[in-house]
Order: sequence, then C-alpha cells, then structure tokens
Amino acid sequence: MKKVLILLGVPGSGKGTQARILAEELGYVQISTGDLLRALDADPQGDPEDKKKLEDMRNGGLVSDDLIYKLAFAAIEKNLAQKKVVMLDGAIRTVEQAKAYQDFLLQRVSADEIVAVKFRISDEISYNRLAKRKVCGSCGDILPYSTENEKKTICEKCGGPLQVREDDNEATIRERIKKQGNAMLAPLVEFYEQKGILVSVNGEEKIDVVDREVKDKLGL
Ligand code: AMP
Repeated sequence: MKKVLILLGVPGSGKGTQARILAEELGYVQISTGDLLRALDADPQGDPEDKKKLEDMRNGGLVSDDLIYKLAFAAIEKNLAQKKVVMLDGAIRTVEQAKAYQDFLLQRVSADEIVAVKFRISDEISYNRLAKRKVCGSCGDILPYSTENEKKTICEKCGGPLQVREDDNEATIRERIKKQGNAMLAPLVEFYEQKGILVSVNGEEKIDVVDREVKDKLGL
C-alpha cells in the first residue's frame, strides 16, 4: 500500500484534477504547493517575509525552496501522522527539491511506500489547457475548457465564483512553460525512474480515461 503519491506533470497536465478524484473517492489528501502559496497570498495574517517570496510566482518562475519546504513538509507531516495517504501535487519541481523531499519522506515512510506518477502531455497542449481553464475562487475546483464550460460563471460543486487564475494569462503561461515545461521536468522524471518508483500515464486523454489508467498503474 502506497502512502505517498508524487504527481509529476507540466502545468495543465491534469494532475490536480486527478488528485481531486482520488481525494473524493478514496480520501487521499491532496497537497498542492500552488494552492498553499495562493492561500498564503490571500491571508492578511500571513508572514510578510514569506509573502515577499510570492513575487516569483507572479512572474511565472519558481518560488524559493525554503518557503516550499516550510509549507509542504508541515502539511505532509500532519497528514501522515493521521494515517492518510498524501498526494504531492506540483510540490516537487526540481531535482534539488526531489532530494530534499526524499530525505524528509524516508524518515517517515519506507521507499516502497512512495510512487511517482508522471502525466505525459506536450507543451502545446499544456498551453491550450492553461489559457482556457477556469478555477473556482472558493473551493479551487478546476473547470477544464469546453464550449459548454466556457459560459459558466458559478462553480457547480460549491456555488463559488469561477475565475481565471491570476497566473493563467498569456505572458505568464509562456514563462511557466519555459521554466516548468517538459524540458525542465525531464531530469526530475529521470530521478524517480532511476529509483525504480516511476509510473507514467497518458495525460492527453479525457479525464475518466486518465483516471482509469492511474488506478490501473497503482493497482487501485
Ligand atoms: P501550480 O498551482 O501548481 O501551477 O503552482 C503555481 C505557482 O506556484 C507556480 O507557477 C510556481 O510559481 C509556484 N510553485 C508551486 N509549487 C512550487 C514548487 N514546488 N517549487 C517552486 N515553486 C512552486
């Protein structure tokens, strides 16, 4: 039984959507550093020193490692202590981070309880998905682009307002793909491949098809 799922994929690869499905169906806990950073941004009581570090996020770059570890490690610690399976969604983006997380995780779970899942999509599809998706301002649900979804303004799950994410504008998306696209992901994928804990799914398929492949590869 796996205790930690490391979800790997370029922005818009669907890892957040799949994490939400596993959370709803199986009670796994999604730890999204992007969501934690946005929550910090919106929190008037957030540490001002930490908030300064969010500037990189607005530029499409990566936020400093110390802030990522501070937010993510606390969330992982808490949920593993409660015997929850955790899914790390976008929480690991460089080999340096991968090593730091691996050291942290191996003090809490064994190596065969960790699996990395790669969602394969091209940079071009990544761009199209990011440019056209909407996100709920209240519950964070992601509404993928479709002609039907384009007209919606209210979240069907919680009634919150559907919005375009601040960093889902053309210039920032281009930067994110340059800094966080497939070329940048490759060394990270290799890191987990060499450890023999990588599985890979076709992220270009429809949501339910990807869901099935994820579950098959994880033996769920
Ligand atoms: P996401 O919601 O996963 O697309 O993340 C939004 C933004 O948060 C990214 O574009 C980065 O600026 C920042 N971010 C999220 N996770 C990390 C991470 N593990 N390391 C560095 N920056 C991150």
